[in-house]
Parts: sequence; structure tokens; C-alpha cells
Amino acid sequence: MDNSTTILFLLIVAFLAGGSLGLLIRKAMPKPDKAGDSKEIFILEQRLREVSQEFARSTEELNRKREIAFHVPTIVRRLSSRLNPNAIPGVAVRIAKDFFQASHAGYFAPLNESEEFTMLEGVGFPEGWKHTIRISPNEGILGLALQNRVVVTSGEYRSLKGNKPDAISPFEKAGIAVDLAAPVFGMSKALGAILIGGCKVRVNEERQYASMLADLLATAYQTAVSIEAVERDAAVDGLTRVYNRRYFSLWFENEIRRAKNYSQPLSLLILDIDHFKKVNDTWGHNAGDMVLRKLAETLRAHTRSSDLTARFGGEEFVVVMTASNKDQAFTYAENLRTKVAGMEVNVSGHEAPVKVTITCGIATYPEDGENTTDLLRAADDALYEGKQGGRNRVVRAQLVGLDGKPLARS
Ligand code: GH3
Ligand code: MG
Ligand code: MG
Repeated sequence: MDNSTTILFLLIVAFLAGGSLGLLIRKAMPKPDKAGDSKEIFILEQRLREVSQEFARSTEELNRKREIAFHVPTIVRRLSSRLNPNAIPGVAVRIAKDFFQASHAGYFAPLNESEEFTMLEGVGFPEGWKHTIRISPNEGILGLALQNRVVVTSGEYRSLKGNKPDAISPFEKAGIAVDLAAPVFGMSKALGAILIGGCKVRVNEERQYASMLADLLATAYQTAVSIEAVERDAAVDGLTRVYNRRYFSLWFENEIRRAKNYSQPLSLLILDIDHFKKVNDTWGHNAGDMVLRKLAETLRAHTRSSDLTARFGGEEFVVVMTASNKDQAFTYAENLRTKVAGMEVNVSGHEAPVKVTITCGIATYPEDGENTTDLLRAADDALYEGKQGGRNRVVRAQLVGLDGKPLARS
């Protein structure tokens, strides 16, 4: 036999020997218990299913925890930053919608003139509800949350009302399932409530985050309102409630810049009560204060929302008229002068009312000056001229030549 034939022969022998060995081993093994095996397999399969379900649940929980760990610092940062009180409902809605993966989220707040609540901001709720819907604070899921001052989930609400449809709930009427209502409470009263629905997350297990959000919103709202009040007080004159000189200076400077940028005129009026010292001397200081308040009220009532009225000091006031040239400012000031001359201030103990007149100087950007100092000086010069000329009049600033004489009356 040559080499290749020998190898082939050996392979055949090995194959036959292997096959026989397999048969012998199988014969030596105990017979399988088919019924027992399949039961065991069934149990194992069931356990495997349970384990994989547990695993899926744990993975889902872990992912959610990761999401929460990401969201919470962002929410805290957002709500502890400086916010305008009016912006808070919108911020609340966006946060609640994102955090709870809700299809609808709304911020509801009490109306000023009644006990009822309305929707200030909302996503997913009917668009027409904004500022128009009226919801009782004593009924439905919102009522339950407000009365108990706690977060209420739909499950808790249903178990309390016994699964009966709530005929008065505007949410149920509109076919909107609310998953959770979180009331936002200030020191003493409800500031609002967040309502969410269509949530992808397990809201029942996350009520503590709804509570956290409501608490943060309450703090954010109270801080925003306090800051606004402090700022308003710092900008407003205590006696007359019009802006003070400090605020006027900042505002005026800014408006001159805007007038420059838009190439628009801007007029400044300085007005001073005539012989005001006499008012104090004749009727007393209190009567003088009443006159100042009445004059401020008249000025405010006749100032456009784009303009600014401020108390410049003592019995002097300023009015800044945006986008107004000297003629327009003059017409306005003449009208104002007439209104003030007709003003009557009744003082107790005196039969005749106090009556006053004003003198007013007008300077206009750009012709009388291009900065605060020059415009103030020009308006003050015009006022002085009015006083010299006999009071109770409006005088426009005018260009003065090198010799100090007026160049032309504008
Ligand atoms: P003129 O027509 O030249 O402006 O005369 P006037 O008397 O109005 O001007 P004057 O500057 O001599 O007097 C201003 C007075 O305004 C004196 C001051 O006691 C009074 N005054 C300033 N601030 C107040 C205030 O807050 N309340 C009261 N009641 N009086 C004030
Ligand atoms: Mg005066
Ligand atoms: Mg004065």
C-alpha cells in the first residue's frame, strides 16, 4: 500500500470505531423522563421571562433616574434665575411638559376679581381656554388639590369620587384626562396650580417631583414679585407715585440713544407749579401735598404709554415725549397747562378749592441738545423765561447766538 491508501484505510477504521463507541455510550445512559424535562423547561422559561421583565423594568427605571438626574439641576437653575412674574406660568408649563413627558400641561391661576381659576398658559389644552375658561376651586381634581394643598393624581381622584364621570369638570367635558394636579401655594393663598395629562412616565411614582416643582414655582413667584416691588419702589416717588428723578435720568439717557438710532425727535418738558410756596403758606403743607398728588395724577392721565412722567424735585415735574417734535410737544403742553389751570383741589376746612397754574419749558432733541445735560439746561432756560414772562405759560427753547440773544423762535 502506498502512503495515501494507508491514510484512507486508517480513517475508515477510526470512523467505524467512533460510531460504535457512540452507540455503546447511548445504550449505557438512563432513559430520559420526557414529562419531567418539559415541566422543568417550562419553569425555567417562565423564570427567564420574569427575569427579563425585571431587567427591562430596572433598565427603564435606571434610564428614568438618569433623566431625572439631568432634569432636576436644570429646573432648579431655571427657577432660581431672575424671572418676571408674568413669565413664570410659561416656564412652569414647559418644565412640567418636558419633565413628565406630558401631552398637555397647563398653569391655572385665580382670577383677580373672583375665586375662580383660569388658564394662564397651556400646551395641549384648548387654545381658547387661555384667560377665558372659568374653573371652580372647589370641584374636580383641581379643587381636591387646592383644598388639601397636596399633589393629587388621577388614581387618587378616581378612588375618591368612585369612578363616576365628573359632570362639572371642564377637563372631562373637553375629553382631557388629567394625570396630576399640583397646587402652588404662597404664604397664605393659592398662587396657581399645574395640571398635566397624557404622561409617558409613571406619574404615580413621581408625585414628589410634582411637589418639588410646585414648591420651586412658589418660591420663584414670590421672589419675582418682591424684586419687582423693590425695583418699583426704588424708581417711584413716594408722594406722587410717578417716577423719581433717578429713574428719569436713566430712562431719558436711554431714550436719547434710541432717538439717535432711529433718527427721531424727542421732547423734554419741565413744568413747575407757579407760586407754590404761597399754596403751602396759605393752605398748609398737607394741602400742598394734595396739590402735588393731583398734578401728578393729571400728568399721568394725559401721558401716552410710550412717554414718561417723573417728579424732578419739589414742585417740578418732567415729561419725556418720544417721537415728538417741538410743535407736537407744545400742543400737548398747552393742553396740559389748560387742564391744570382748571384743576380744583378741595381741602377740608376751606370752602374754596385750591387752584394752581404751571409754567412749562420745552427742549427738543436734536436741535436744543444731544445729551441729557444740554437738553435739561435748554428746557430749564425756557422755563425760566416763562417765569420771567409772567408764569402760566409754555415756552419753547430757542437757539441762542454767541452774544446770548435768541437766534430764532422755533
Ligand atoms: P415760582 O412760581 O417761581 O416757581 O414760585 P414757587 O413759590 O413755586 O417756588 P419756590 O421755589 O419759591 O417754592 C417752592 C416751594 O415748594 C417751596 C417748598 O416748600 C415747596 N415744596 C417742595 N417740595 C414740597 C413737598 O413735597 N410738599 C409740599 N407741600 N411743598 C413742597
Ligand atoms: Mg414753583
Ligand atoms: Mg421750583
